[in-house]
Amino acid sequence: MTADAHGDADVALRVRALESLLLEKGLVESPAIDEIIDLFENRLGPQNGARVVARAWSDPEFKARLLANATDAIVEMGYEAVQGEDMVVVENTPRVHNLVVCTLCSCFPWATLGLPPVWYKSAPYRSRAASDPRGVLLEFGTAVADEAEVRVWDSNAELRYMVLPERPAGTDAMGEDELLALVTRDSMIGVTRALAP
Ligand code: FE
Repeated sequence: MTADAHGDADVALRVRALESLLLEKGLVESPAIDEIIDLFENRLGPQNGARVVARAWSDPEFKARLLANATDAIVEMGYEAVQGEDMVVVENTPRVHNLVVCTLCSCFPWATLGLPPVWYKSAPYRSRAASDPRGVLLEFGTAVADEAEVRVWDSNAELRYMVLPERPAGTDAMGEDELLALVTRDSMIGVTRALAP
């Protein structure tokens, strides 16, 4: 934890130094930087993915479109791919638990989940999610029944996967806005389930 915090502060300092240098040399303009910061701070992130999931839980027709063509269904909700990638959404059920990784580097659906967490980019997660997915899931506190299948999806530059977690029990009366709060970033990577109400 402490090492990460120090690492972040160090990176922030370097980024600020780089930014002033680029501005000073006239290589970039301040509004362009503000635009990028706004994109990453406010417009990308797991709040978008949570909207997609809450809508899919509430609207069977949208869910069918999402599972058939996630790229179009996500654009329909106003979230555009940042790097031109296609999206595939895989559904968790009592029989199948899906888990997303990028074994090569850190490919991640920025439009719906924002920037990847540090552990997602780590070598142990990248290798063990593929070789021992059940072990990795247990470390995240997620036990998957022996009779259920665990499927691992390897994201890449062209194709990014997102998990549609199972709608938690006891949420039948909840509307989209209430459901949103139950959808975590990690549940859309598949390392955990959606929160219980
Ligand atoms: Fe990658």
